Amino acid sequence: MIWNPAETMNRSEMAALQLTRLQETVSRVYERVAFYRDRMDAIGLKPSDIKSLKDIEKIPFTVKNDLRDHYPTGMFAEDTRAIVRYHASSGTTGKPIIVGYTRNDMAVWTDCCARLAAAAGVTADDVCQVAFGYGMFTGGFGLHYGLEHLGAAVIPHSSGNSERQLMFMQDLGTTVLIATPSYALHLSEIMAEQGIAPEDLKLRVGLFGGEGHTPEMRRLIEMRLGITDTQNYGLTEITGPGVSYECLAFEGMHINEDHFYPEIIDPVTGETLPEGEEGELVLTTLTKEGIPMLRYRTKDITRLNYEPCSCGRTLVRMDLVRGRSDDMMVIRGVNVFPSQIEAVLMTIHGIGPHYQIIVTTEHFMDQIEVQVELVDASRLESYRELEDLTHEIRHKIRTVLQIDVRVKLLSPQTLERTAGKAKRVIDLRTKAF
Ligand code: ZN
Repeated sequence: MIWNPAETMNRSEMAALQLTRLQETVSRVYERVAFYRDRMDAIGLKPSDIKSLKDIEKIPFTVKNDLRDHYPTGMFAEDTRAIVRYHASSGTTGKPIIVGYTRNDMAVWTDCCARLAAAAGVTADDVCQVAFGYGMFTGGFGLHYGLEHLGAAVIPHSSGNSERQLMFMQDLGTTVLIATPSYALHLSEIMAEQGIAPEDLKLRVGLFGGEGHTPEMRRLIEMRLGITDTQNYGLTEITGPGVSYECLAFEGMHINEDHFYPEIIDPVTGETLPEGEEGELVLTTLTKEGIPMLRYRTKDITRLNYEPCSCGRTLVRMDLVRGRSDDMMVIRGVNVFPSQIEAVLMTIHGIGPHYQIIVTTEHFMDQIEVQVELVDASRLESYRELEDLTHEIRHKIRTVLQIDVRVKLLSPQTLERTAGKAKRVIDLRTKAF
């Protein structure tokens, strides 16, 4: 179901609306936020210089550190009296990032989350269990308000306590699960332990977000929970959940571009890339009052598709996020993500899930060595088998990434195991500057 007529606006009407809102936003922050005024003054840019959407490229980028530097409310465009809600991003180190919503920001956010749920087929007949954390994190409250606005019943369970979670699912007939994909998988394991089959529950749809999600995870979640897995995307700095979401055509996530204007840039040079090319997503809020964001660098790598969708929405679609620009390596001028190498390795039989990528410079050229563990140590004894496997890995990586790599096969259990995020890339290149 399409929740808001804005989702089917034609492109020229949308562009006109975006330009008006962009001009209002730029004027507003120029008047009210010293950070933006100083940045614009420094390059001689005035709000009146924004005459077309293309002129957005004249505006400097905003990055996460700008928000940290102006902690807690230095980038707010409204007096704290006008703020009706605060949220914060989860930071692993130091102070978090604080965002504030006015009454109107709450209404927009709620509407965007209702659009998200409606696009996944959720209706007023559904019973929705929110297993996202409530609190300063935007996930729980964002979806909660959106689902209620849609008329669905909400069970505000919050994260954790899986057994109780399953009890409510059974007793209240939960049909929609709102969670991170990894929590959904965890829940499926608890179900198996307790002998609860997918048929014992009424679950039919998952609204998943908050972290990356591989196609393999999606298949597993759909199979184990017996649901349709839909993904959505958002970030605290922009609004929280509700920035973009999948429809049931599953060909990308529709961006609520009447509120959030997207661009794709080359993460290294900062240049705007032509339509359809892959790069870093940059977002500008078009209606946000509390803490507007001009050209915020999300660090998320994706691609935009402006073709109309079979679902009837005209809103631009972004691909599911493929990685973070922080993880991107530039190898002989080619952008390479560890996730691309991982995806190739996963298709090859006989090697394990543990690998490491070593980048070095030799004769002024970048070299990559992929180290990967064999599943079976006995293969190390057959020179011929090792040769064949090495050749297969090299060939597949060359086909997908157009780069030549060296391959080193290791005995099982050779690479270091860490409890947290595995260190996949070791860059030993000599830096020219
Ligand atoms: Zn669609």
